[in-house]
Amino acid sequence: MSRSLTIALAPGDGIGPEIMAATMDLFKAAGVHNQADFVTVEMGGAEFAKGNSRGMSDACIRTVESCGILFKGPMETPKGGGGKSINVTARKLWNAYANYRVFKTLPGVETVYSKAGINIDMAIVRENIEDTYGGVEHRLSSDMVQCKRLISAPGSDQVHRFAYQTARKLGLKKIHCGHKANIMKMSDGLFLDRFKAVGKDFQEIEQADVIVDALCMNLVLKPQQYKMVVLPNLQGDIVSDLVAGLVGGLGFAPSANIGNHISIFEAVHGTAPDIAGRGIANPTSLVLSGLMMLRHLCLFKEAATIENALLATLESGIHTGDFGYTSGTNGAKVTPPVGTKEFTKAIIDNLGNTPKTVTPIPDAQAGDHCFIRPPAPTGQQVIRTFKNLQTQVVGCDIYLDTALSPISLAEEMNRVCQDTPFKLTIISNRGTQVWPTGSVYTECVDYYRVRFELRDGIAPGTFGQSRCVALMDKIAESFTVCSYELLRLFDGVKGYSMAQGQ
Ligand code: NAD
Repeated sequence: MSRSLTIALAPGDGIGPEIMAATMDLFKAAGVHNQADFVTVEMGGAEFAKGNSRGMSDACIRTVESCGILFKGPMETPKGGGGKSINVTARKLWNAYANYRVFKTLPGVETVYSKAGINIDMAIVRENIEDTYGGVEHRLSSDMVQCKRLISAPGSDQVHRFAYQTARKLGLKKIHCGHKANIMKMSDGLFLDRFKAVGKDFQEIEQADVIVDALCMNLVLKPQQYKMVVLPNLQGDIVSDLVAGLVGGLGFAPSANIGNHISIFEAVHGTAPDIAGRGIANPTSLVLSGLMMLRHLCLFKEAATIENALLATLESGIHTGDFGYTSGTNGAKVTPPVGTKEFTKAIIDNLGNTPKTVTPIPDAQAGDHCFIRPPAPTGQQVIRTFKNLQTQVVGCDIYLDTALSPISLAEEMNRVCQDTPFKLTIISNRGTQVWPTGSVYTECVDYYRVRFELRDGIAPGTFGQSRCVALMDKIAESFTVCSYELLRLFDGVKGYSMAQGQ
């Protein structure tokens, strides 16, 4: 019999097939398969091994796009080399822009906080598409590589709106934006500005912001002060692993990658190659991710039944090797660990039971809502926040692969720009000004930025981009130009940063 819900299922690599099988056994026992069909798709290591550099078959892409839901196990990403992360590719391909990760103190999972009686119940909302995860990287000179950090206004708006909407459904009074806008004033500054702007539509929710390094310290010292933190991609990735550590480790960290059309549910942890194939992996994180998926699909009762059985199992002290109660000074476990299958069987045996030491999960909870999929887009959309700004060219930054000294480079650049509308204003190296002034203690590498701005008396916008390109062309006759960036005003406001020490 075909059911109305169809979920694309990718077991994944490493421990993925073991924990996915465990989760499916549990789902079957709880009647989820009476409500939804699962269609296995080809994605991950086996696809890469066939030489498919995208890591997923065409049929997989069609199935996921038609289902709108992908439930996936962890998938391996080779370090370095040319192979892209399949996990990142999937999130970006289907615009699953908000990575929602929920962290809760669980019974039977001993941590320094549970021992101290501190209850943790918080969420990290990580922007999932932009930032350095575009993986736009180049070797610029013999000694320098670059990774572009891209943060957009509409991309930030999407994730902030998701965070506020989720906070509203959960009845949260306050949410935080984590950032590093004190250093990256333009990129993190934009992320923070959009947090404040989007928050105007959610007046009942107090907004607060916190610099990411202070956030990390606060999370360790007093985690209970945070309920929801929204962060740019890389910072969100790191902070969410930190918070996973506070509740017992990656084995207890579920996540949902939410998009407007397609959402992906997966554990936060990876393929755990060190324990793969040994039947000892903890399936809790994937089970909890599956429960987020069931609630997303309106299967609240099934989700509550499974969660109560899981909590009852955990509080009974049954555990896999990565967690459990300890006693005495040598930290020995009170009970020996069980394997993945025994742990799953214990949860299945507990279906219909509720936990005694924590409040049982009701069928319907705050924050529950059914996802209604909008009609598929007819083509790729261009999303915009700021439209019709007036822009004026005021100069350009030209990046050069050279090992000249700053003074020699300045002489060359002053010569090249003589008959152009531009004057040389600064030279910087690794972001620090080294000409016209600088410190002899600033060491330089073989990659410079030279900044040219309009000569005195020439109004912004008098010359357009073509004069900058002509200048670059002239420089390219004797130097290797790595890249160039226009210097522009946007409605009269500088669209570029100053060098350190300028
Ligand atoms: P990892 O999360 O796989 O493992 C870190 C440690 O945690 C290991 O000691 C592992 O044994 C343990 N661990 C993780 N999950 C566990 C579980 N369910 N039960 C018991 N112990 C568990 O991180 P890693 O070693 O850095 O990454 C391995 C691979 O996974 C890499 O190729 C990485 O790119 C990939 N990865 C994939 C995802 C994803 O699919 N979303 C996420 C993170 C990492």
